[in-house]
Amino acid sequence: MNRFPRLASGALAAAALVATVVPATAQSAAAADAAGAAPAAGSTSASSGVTLPPTSVSVSLRGGRMVGLNSRLVIGGQVKAPAGGVLSALDRMLSGATTTVSSLLAGASSVTELPAPTPVSAARVSLQLKTPTGWSSIATVPTTASGTYAVAVPTGFYGTHTWRVLSAATGTSTEQATSPFTVGVRVPYAARGSARSYARLSSGDVRWNPCAPIPFYVNRAGMPKNALPTIMAAMQKVHEASGLTFRFSGYSNGVPFAGGNSSRSGMPNYGFTIAWAKPQQAGELRGTVLAVSGSWSRSTQVGSSRRAEYFSGGMVIDRTEKLKSRMGKGKTLGYVVMHEMGHVLGLGHTADASQMMAPTVTARSYTQYGAGDLAGFAAVGLAGGCL
Ligand SMILES: [Zn+2]
Repeated sequence: MNRFPRLASGALAAAALVATVVPATAQSAAAADAAGAAPAAGSTSASSGVTLPPTSVSVSLRGGRMVGLNSRLVIGGQVKAPAGGVLSALDRMLSGATTTVSSLLAGASSVTELPAPTPVSAARVSLQLKTPTGWSSIATVPTTASGTYAVAVPTGFYGTHTWRVLSAATGTSTEQATSPFTVGVRVPYAARGSARSYARLSSGDVRWNPCAPIPFYVNRAGMPKNALPTIMAAMQKVHEASGLTFRFSGYSNGVPFAGGNSSRSGMPNYGFTIAWAKPQQAGELRGTVLAVSGSWSRSTQVGSSRRAEYFSGGMVIDRTEKLKSRMGKGKTLGYVVMHEMGHVLGLGHTADASQMMAPTVTARSYTQYGAGDLAGFAAVGLAGGCL
């Protein structure tokens, strides 16, 4: 009979961990910028106190499109504004009246004094993702001298998402948005189970900011040979499910939870640490527990409300378990990291044994995230928008 080891309870990352209130940081300032960068389309800049002429912004992708993972999808368009604005166009009509009349008398066929749209150069154009709480700017590019722009739509993570392009007000013209368009990135395998088979660790919408790379560190003490390539491969799977990006940022001496679940001793100020330890080094690694993971959240002020976000976390793996240092089924490092990353990002366990976030590893455990896993990782990922 196999005795199947349990993966650690992700409840560690919930209220048991300290919620630290910190003063506004660069992180929250950037978040405030992002929140302020998505006003309603068609609103007019109030800075000059005058009504600005409209800008038009176009996008070349119409309708929805399904693409494969990591397809190259660059959309382009052009931003235009009335020549010189309405008043100066009227001025030119008046000053050019004599010429116009004489040209018309001479039978010229192409004279017009209507203000022709002109390209807007150096305009700030943002690719925005539709989220449950509004439009979130994912990337911003300037327009060229001819008013054109090109911006890559992220296709490195699964799901069907709705996007638009927003052209910021330029000082002589208004903010405008294109029509929304959808891009679906298909999952290249049959994901098992129900998309409802996932759980969040926190009742609130606590997430890592998905719009900046999350640094992670590795403690090499007790690390199996060839572990790093497996960790990187597992992180790639997490990225494909969540849209979050992870950056290996070096080695650390820290052992998560060695000082208890509320101790962040040795953990990064921003990011998380992966370590190996003996059960007596990190108390939760007792019995058949393979690994323990979780993250600490903090509360930041955004406008008039407060919002919690994860900022530091850890994953500690029982070094006596002799995991196979590869991706694959059963007690492999790849499986454990793919599971534990769910806890680092704020997911709990599901009772659905077909999902990788089920609490128990079995010999027939899976190598790909199921439908519930994918929905859970999406819920804590980029689909929720920037923080
Ligand atoms: Zn677990």
